[in-house]
Amino acid sequence: MILILKANTDTSGNAYSQLMNNLNELDGVTISTHSIKGAEQVLSEIYLLGNTGSLGIEEMQSLPCVERVVRISDEYRILGRHKDNERPIEFNYNGVLFSQQTLNVFAGLCAVDVPEHVDQMMEHLQQLGQVCTRMGAFKPRTSPYSFQGHGKKCLPWVFELAGKNGIKVIAMEITHESHIDDINHALEESGQATGVMLQIGTRNTQNFELLKSVGRQQEFPVLLKRGFGITLEESLNAAEYLASEGNSRVIFGLRGMKTNMADPHRNFVDFAHVPVVRRLTRMPVCIDPSHSVGSRDYSSDGILDVMHVTAQGIIAGANMVLADFHPKPGKALVDGPQALLMDELKYFFDDIALVRTTYEKRVQAAIDYTNQHTN
Ligand code: PEP
Ligand code: MN
Repeated sequence: MILILKANTDTSGNAYSQLMNNLNELDGVTISTHSIKGAEQVLSEIYLLGNTGSLGIEEMQSLPCVERVVRISDEYRILGRHKDNERPIEFNYNGVLFSQQTLNVFAGLCAVDVPEHVDQMMEHLQQLGQVCTRMGAFKPRTSPYSFQGHGKKCLPWVFELAGKNGIKVIAMEITHESHIDDINHALEESGQATGVMLQIGTRNTQNFELLKSVGRQQEFPVLLKRGFGITLEESLNAAEYLASEGNSRVIFGLRGMKTNMADPHRNFVDFAHVPVVRRLTRMPVCIDPSHSVGSRDYSSDGILDVMHVTAQGIIAGANMVLADFHPKPGKALVDGPQALLMDELKYFFDDIALVRTTYEKRVQAAIDYTNQHTN
């Protein structure tokens, strides 16, 4: 059971200690408190776990500071939707809003290579009014002999170039908890020139110790990619690890599933799961068309497969897109064959806008339909 407290409840006040006294008397019930920094206010929630079956909703609702009570199932306790549409997870990070209502596109380099390419990428984004990008510094590679990313030594100049080009959020994968400190330190040195969304890659979705470390820090929001060979439920539980440690600013990323049934695509595109994740949880949902498709192939209509699947994710309600671009894909150190070109950047954003408008019309049509049929 979750007790949602009135906005900006003072946790050092009298009413709050009265509430806690009441809760401490409940037999067989463990209490854990969570604060969620929303776009405008701090929301506190108290989770009652264990023997809560006999607690009445109205009784709990009458306790001091309590605004609303939601009965939850065991699954995805914190991130889950629990059939309740009034507790959106929305957060503002470095001036950018993330929620199930917004759409943010992170086009950028799969892996940071040279300053010239990073600068060109960011300049093109700035020209289009974009403030988010992706930049990989720590790369998990299948072969130990492949380029592993420049690591922490590239962070100072990547953050400086981001500041110069007005980039507010960089999605950056980490593969070890020490990378959180590396990023924190480099951001401090840069005078907080930009912000970072920590990315946990598909190979680390069930690296539980990494999840716990990333969940314990409150500084950075997290993009958790679905594991490419496990069930959706297992991946959603991985996201819940982050929240259970204290960080519920989590975005769930779909990036395709590993199976040769996906051939000739690199992974089997799973964007039909966008509405499913939105229904089961309150997390914004990201799609990664580049790592799903893995090539620059076109269909007979002249549209790139990467753009087709991006559209499929957006039309189904995706809230974030992660896409590989590169000024010179032939020279990219990782994933060049799937990178789109600088010249295609505006076309990509225009196509997304077109599809997003259609998605918004679909949502309105669903509302109209429901209204007509419930009156
Ligand atoms: C990436 O986004 O660069 C990446 C390695 O993705 P994934 O973890 O989905 O393979
Ligand atoms: Mn990649």
